[in-house]
Amino acid sequence: MTDFIIIGGGVAGTSAGAYLSSLGTVLLLEAEPNLAYHASGRSAALFEESYGKPSTVALNAASRDYHVENNILSPRGLMLVGTANDANAFDTEHTQMGLDAMSMAEAKAMVPILNTTHIDRAGYHADAWDLDTDLLIQSYVKTIRKNGGTITTKSPVTAITKTGAGWTVDTKTETHAAPILINAAGPWVDQIAAMAGITPIGFTPLRRSMGRIPAPGGHDVSTWPMIFGTNEAWYAKPDAGALIVSPAEEHLMDPHDAFADDMVLAEGMARYEECVTEPVTRLLASWAGLRTFAPDRTLVIGPDPTAANFIWCAGQGGYGMQSSPAAGQLLADLVNNSAPSIAAASVKALSPARFR
Ligand SMILES: Cc1cc2nc3c(=O)[nH]c(=O)nc-3n(C[C@H](O)[C@H](O)[C@H](O)COP(=O)(O)OP(=O)(O)OC[C@H]3O[C@@H](n4cnc5c(N)ncnc54)[C@H](O)[C@@H]3O)c2cc1C
Repeated sequence: MTDFIIIGGGVAGTSAGAYLSSLGTVLLLEAEPNLAYHASGRSAALFEESYGKPSTVALNAASRDYHVENNILSPRGLMLVGTANDANAFDTEHTQMGLDAMSMAEAKAMVPILNTTHIDRAGYHADAWDLDTDLLIQSYVKTIRKNGGTITTKSPVTAITKTGAGWTVDTKTETHAAPILINAAGPWVDQIAAMAGITPIGFTPLRRSMGRIPAPGGHDVSTWPMIFGTNEAWYAKPDAGALIVSPAEEHLMDPHDAFADDMVLAEGMARYEECVTEPVTRLLASWAGLRTFAPDRTLVIGPDPTAANFIWCAGQGGYGMQSSPAAGQLLADLVNNSAPSIAAASVKALSPARFR
């Protein structure tokens, strides 16, 4: 007997599964051969508590303990750089992120390749962390399995039918049944809703590309912070001895297996290059992922008002990794009718009811 069928084996589905597995028997269905094949395996892997709308920040804050207890985080730091031309935007972002003022000499001591003929301002805080995304997903998987749940890959859901007792869900080879269905299909969540006869919400999958380049000028980049251009024009982050650089684009796509756009990547690299003294000589690798947003760019967690046993776990946008422990906990609390640990205003802001 299955109590919960979860569709999607990214961070949304696995975190929901981990928390639900203490309430009943979980079956998680993932279309791809591996978990975290899409966005959840392609992120920048940062924990930055202040990133996102207020309800996302509430989830980030409530997630911190889980990340710390499971050794998911390691120190990184975050630096914002800017020029006189974008002074207003720089000031706004500096305040929003709660950064400390920093002289250009201090910034250059931290990141020696900063081009101080172009950049003339910087802000920094140490409270931004590398997030071990593999370990995070594995910690959820371990909990699901420990509690008797099942995870099935290579199982694309092809049909969903409402029954008197709940739902039946068809994959290519099997039919499963459960009273409660969790929609955690990332960019495909609206398609899953339509399959189940639930009105879609209007999610937008936005592509973000990423390139890995050799450590600039042969520097040891391991202690450098993550660096953001003002207006998120680009960002760069140390990654296993190299640097990942993103144009930070948000291009609307249909759900698919995303790949980097060469032109967008080149333009982003050019914006990064303006701010540093070392040219980009070659790309070691490139990839892209879809960051999926609700119309108000806030996560959607909870039962659909038109079908209390259809639970949305969607719209994780650019925050799905860092917010996942509290998002999974909230989802389980709502399913279990127990009092959520985050403030009522955030629970309301995250509810699918706001679209109905
Ligand atoms: C470049 C980039 C940088 C990012 N940086 C960060 C960061 O620094 N910090 C952070 O917290 N977040 C970051 N994010 C965001 C984060 O990666 C996402 O919010 C998160 O991965 C979304 O997880 P998900 O499980 O909802 O979606 P996905 O990982 O896309 O998983 C959805 C899954 O559902 C499956 N599925 C779909 N349809 C079906 C079906 N019919 N049957 C079965 N399975 C199905 C798919 O195969 C997929 O595996 C970044 C994202 C990108 C792309």
